[in-house]
Amino acid sequence: MTAGTNLLVIVLDALREDAVVPALEVPGRCVKAETAIASAPWTLPSCTSLITGLDATRHHHYWHSGSLATSGLVGALPDGYRTVGLVNNTVLQPASQLDAGFDRWVYFDDHRRPFEQAAKLVRRARPRRPVFVLLHSNIAHDYYLPGAGAYYDEAFPEAVGGACALGARVISWNGTTPDERAAVAKTYGASARKAVSEATEILELARGRDDFVCAVVSDHGEGFDYDHGRLHHGGRVHDDLLRVPLYFDLPSTIPEGRRAELAAALASTPVAVTDVLPTLFSLVGVASLPDVDGRPIASEPDERVLMSEDRRYLYLHDRFRLNYMGRGKHMSTEDQERNRRLLAQLAGPPLVRSYRTKAAKLTVTALFHRFGEESPSQSRHAMVALGADLAGSPLLVLRPEGLFAFELFELDKDPDERHNILTAGDVGIDALLTSPWATAVTLPLGGDPGHGEVDLPTVLHGVEHLGAG
Ligand SMILES: [Zn+2]
Repeated sequence: MTAGTNLLVIVLDALREDAVVPALEVPGRCVKAETAIASAPWTLPSCTSLITGLDATRHHHYWHSGSLATSGLVGALPDGYRTVGLVNNTVLQPASQLDAGFDRWVYFDDHRRPFEQAAKLVRRARPRRPVFVLLHSNIAHDYYLPGAGAYYDEAFPEAVGGACALGARVISWNGTTPDERAAVAKTYGASARKAVSEATEILELARGRDDFVCAVVSDHGEGFDYDHGRLHHGGRVHDDLLRVPLYFDLPSTIPEGRRAELAAALASTPVAVTDVLPTLFSLVGVASLPDVDGRPIASEPDERVLMSEDRRYLYLHDRFRLNYMGRGKHMSTEDQERNRRLLAQLAGPPLVRSYRTKAAKLTVTALFHRFGEESPSQSRHAMVALGADLAGSPLLVLRPEGLFAFELFELDKDPDERHNILTAGDVGIDALLTSPWATAVTLPLGGDPGHGEVDLPTVLHGVEHLGAG
């Protein structure tokens, strides 16, 4: 037990795993996770998973409406801890209910103040009243807003004024030229660099004291692949969104054996963002954690299947992003009308989910049909048409409740998730009835996010198989 050890978690919103420049590792001090996976591809559900330790498939927190059941994870810290959340994204304001268990939770609408407040808390921490500080920054996230121009100019002084702020076009990049698209990627790179630089300053302050256990993580990445329609975030579960940076920075009081064990596990096993708080809490000696999906990171003999999910957004093949119960943010009038028309056919939010082992990833999209006055053949026609709109080349399966679409990627051979082996490799549906998918995958047969789930063999039993989408 390292009594009085402080905790600092830095969440750099929308920071891709490959955008951490310069590198944060320090031998013997700061270790990086080889593969860390977010529970959801956008801020609210992913930060909910980080703070509660619960998978998105369990907390279903995709809207501010509805109450979030607390997992009690933050409350597992000893009473002496002062817990403070400093957040920088509007969806994390108290309406998110993520402030539960925190003594203080403050939202800032500018980029600088969360870091200033965190620096004060780090400087003032005292052994008798240790702190747990959650510092969230939207610097990288906001690369599409005009304020990112200053970060661009700082990073590229020879090309001042060259930033491209996409604004509302960020969802689908409609009407962008190749030059603008290149400038957008550079603007994001400059914003990411700024976020990392601010985080490094705080990290160095905490390192200097040597009584902070720190983690640096992101809630999701960001898409820049215009040609494949993999843009922005939410509504997809590709690795550009789910693979996030994760670093642990440890004071010299952590025993060498524990440090080595953590480093070995981070190098060999995919870990989840839900593991971050359980790991930090175990490092400062919290012995008993509530029943959550995340666990203290250690070498494990069993192969874990990590789940990620979105139930609010869904990207279609032409870069249109469906938004369930949204308010039309960043959507043109035309897109809002298309959104309304599509949702009128659905009995609940779309589901897009991934199951991941070290070597493979299974992605499932499910759309549940809203039964109206149309005939069974008209319903079928509507679902088949929706299937044709899905991104990628999924294997489509039609059930009475709706449409299921499957993609299986061999991550070791195909890290960019280009080739769905269920269709491209002629493997077919039988591959889904093998280990680990047959037992690890469960899916709902209805649109309500709280709907019970059945196993994959049940989902696939006696279905109509439509082939590739
Ligand atoms: Zn985010």
